[in-house]
Amino acid sequence: MTRLLVLYTGGTIGMDQTPDGLAPKPGLLPRLLERFLKPDLQFDVVEYPSLIDSSAITPAHWNQLLGDLSRERDRYDGFVVIHGTDTMAYTASLLAFALRGFGKPVVVTGSQLPLVHPRSDGWSNIADALEAACQRDLAEVVIAFDRLLLRGCRARKLDAAGFSGFASPNAAPLARFGIQADWRRELWRKPDGDRFVPMALDERLRVACLFLTPGHGATLMGQMLAEDRLDGAALMSYGNGNAPAEPALLDGVAALSARGGAVLNLTQVTVGAVEVGAYAASQPLARAGAVPGADMTPEAAVAKLTVLLSQGLRGEALRARLAENLAGEIS
Ligand code: ASP
Repeated sequence: MTRLLVLYTGGTIGMDQTPDGLAPKPGLLPRLLERFLKPDLQFDVVEYPSLIDSSAITPAHWNQLLGDLSRERDRYDGFVVIHGTDTMAYTASLLAFALRGFGKPVVVTGSQLPLVHPRSDGWSNIADALEAACQRDLAEVVIAFDRLLLRGCRARKLDAAGFSGFASPNAAPLARFGIQADWRRELWRKPDGDRFVPMALDERLRVACLFLTPGHGATLMGQMLAEDRLDGAALMSYGNGNAPAEPALLDGVAALSARGGAVLNLTQVTVGAVEVGAYAASQPLARAGAVPGADMTPEAAVAKLTVLLSQGLRGEALRARLAENLAGEIS
């Protein structure tokens, strides 16, 4: 007998039509989930009092999830988090970094069409998520979506029109669900030996993702980094991590680093990585102190900065941790 805990935060999957359009309907999803109960699979469902469209997610919601998962860790074999798709990759990444050493499956899922829609993808997503959460040797945070199991901190929402909402462009899926589940166990993270230490996020932290554009973008971004408005930033540069050697940008990167914060240099392209030295144009950012983020997703970068800053890391210690592969987020 496997015992799972399902935490229901909101999202399309549990919505229904209202005069204003789709909106979460309290009580609906827990009732619909009852059909998945089996003699050898029991689960409890916790419906959050305020079900949200995931575009409204905040660190306070993440703290609620972290608190519930940490408190219930020993009582259940695995966990399913039902979540809207818009920010699912952020939440999965956040959980991946904050729950290091957790040692049990945490499977995040949702759907593109509500369960009450006749063509809903939610049924198969939930079925796959429940099955993944029963795998005792799955010790990481994953997303189950459209017949794929993806590492949470590698996944991105790349499609808002079809059912294949998520992909992990720089990492192979951890399972494919066909008539049989094809578990790619050789790709799963091995227990890292870390002791699980429950943590809470510092909700006052200011972490942002800045998208570089030609023209004034570099200067504006530099000004923002230079002023004391951010504790950490992901900077989306071009190609293999290239950026113009714009003094304002480089000064901003250096200023934030000097204040103890950090800038993670990521690439705007979906496939590939920041490689300092591939082009000379990648050097100024690195010399100014930006940490090369390799092929980390923006979602993972924001989550990693949020978690490490919340753990109190600053300066060199923060920059060193950011460069490490902590949860499988880097190839
Ligand atoms: N806006 C919805 C949400 O993220 C989209 C979805 O769930 O598919 O909550």
